[in-house]
Amino acid sequence: MLPDYHIHTALCAHAEGEVGDYWSAAKRNGLAEICFTDHAPNPDGYDPAHRMRMAEFPLYRNAISDIQDKGDPRVLFGVEADYYEGCERFLTQWLSGQGFDFILGSVHFIDGWGFDNPEERHIWDSVDVTETWRKYFETIARLVETHLFDAVGHMDLPKKFGHRPSDKDLKEMIQPVLDRMAEGGMGMELNTSGLRRPVREIYPSPVIVALACERAIPICFGSDAHSPSDVGADFDMALKLAREAGYTEFFRIRQRKKERVPLPAF
Ligand SMILES: [Zn+2]
Ligand SMILES: [Zn+2]
Repeated sequence: MLPDYHIHTALCAHAEGEVGDYWSAAKRNGLAEICFTDHAPNPDGYDPAHRMRMAEFPLYRNAISDIQDKGDPRVLFGVEADYYEGCERFLTQWLSGQGFDFILGSVHFIDGWGFDNPEERHIWDSVDVTETWRKYFETIARLVETHLFDAVGHMDLPKKFGHRPSDKDLKEMIQPVLDRMAEGGMGMELNTSGLRRPVREIYPSPVIVALACERAIPICFGSDAHSPSDVGADFDMALKLAREAGYTEFFRIRQRKKERVPLPAF
């Protein structure tokens, strides 16, 4: 079974279950390794509704270090940190001081709009879809340029509610981003949570996974679990997506060092 590198906890205030509950679920589902990547706290007042407070971070770190002593499944210490304009002020120092194994980089806002938030979904009706995707990938390009992150999370998140550019426009806007990722050794996450959303599709789409494979961009797998029952969800489908795009390897990570390993058989 593939490792699950995208797991939240109740500390982020929009997930259910403690570290131990996710670990037990991983054990039941036969996973050998998991990585917690809860939403990073932020002292600048960025999106406080969806993350732990700074003062809660030691609880997160300690809960993970306690569970690491329990044996298999192995547990990695990670975080999902958002890229946004000015994030470097806080993240550059803070990320490097925590001893993370894995830092997943995501974009959840375009010009202050939480485009994947169900409460702000109606705004899609009044924007230009292709322009919105273009802005999104410009932001992902800046994320990559910071070199603060190990992999991009849910690479085509704007499709969540079904709004998409044409394949031609998508390719034109994403290829420069993928080129930069390849140059920087940046990974890409195959995230199965899209199957649980209106779009009913893994992030990213087969077209993007194939373009990433052409560039040998290393991939990992994440359920984006916000409930223990999500751990390892639909990883058989993610494995199939990776294989069909041409991938034969994925990456595991320790202390932010990636190691490429063969994908399991179907
Ligand atoms: Zn979340
Ligand atoms: Zn997440």
